[in-house]
Amino acid sequence: MSDSNMALPQADRAGGPTDLSRCASQPEALIPSAIVLVRDDDPDRKPLLYACAKCGRVHSPRIYLATDEVAHRTAREAAEDCYNCRTHNTCTRCGAECAKGWTACDACRLERKHAEAEEIPDDGGPYCAFDGDTYYQEMEYAADDGCEWVHPCHITYPKIDPDNVIDSLLSDMHEDADVDDLVGVDALYEAVKAFNEAQTQQSWYPDSKRKIRVPAKGIEAGTAETGTGSVHESPVTEGDAP
Ligand SMILES: [Zn+2]
Ligand SMILES: [Zn+2]
Repeated sequence: MSDSNMALPQADRAGGPTDLSRCASQPEALIPSAIVLVRDDDPDRKPLLYACAKCGRVHSPRIYLATDEVAHRTAREAAEDCYNCRTHNTCTRCGAECAKGWTACDACRLERKHAEAEEIPDDGGPYCAFDGDTYYQEMEYAADDGCEWVHPCHITYPKIDPDNVIDSLLSDMHEDADVDDLVGVDALYEAVKAFNEAQTQQSWYPDSKRKIRVPAKGIEAGTAETGTGSVHESPVTEGDAP
């Protein structure tokens, strides 16, 4: 089959003219029909591909691992409810509008994270705002910020992995090079060990699977402070965690 054999798009449903001004997110009755593509030389006009009537994005039934009937129905539905033309998704839990790329709204996702996180007693800190990126050295700063829940944090220190250093060196040497071709390896390991042990700068990573309840702040007359607490803003990258 070559492209030149493809018929021009035709409106599919009998009596269902394709109104390009209609938006895919409008009620179902107003969803424009998919454009059905057939081979120009096929007397049976057997549907081959389906395209969005609004933007023309094409959906092939051949990408679905299903019976022919199901694959065609799925491709047609994908063309009718065109993801490209959609302005938002619908939350599968509460039905509210949510951003494209998500199947649940922010509120439902937060609720779910809460439900799934294991509650633990206060471990002394540091802490991270629940599902947030604000860090607290002390629990009272989290309370000052109005947090109800925080995550405990993992603490890491800068660390050189000597194996990586050796591997990197060997990869720059001739093909058969191995660690025995290097001099002073033991001394390197010892120096790296001392270096690693000397590091004091912490990085904090929230343990998002666990949560700690922030105690309600006691109302102490005359000692009200409105500081936002000390916020630790080390670069936090999941991939950097050991
Ligand atoms: Zn579209
Ligand atoms: Zn929702």
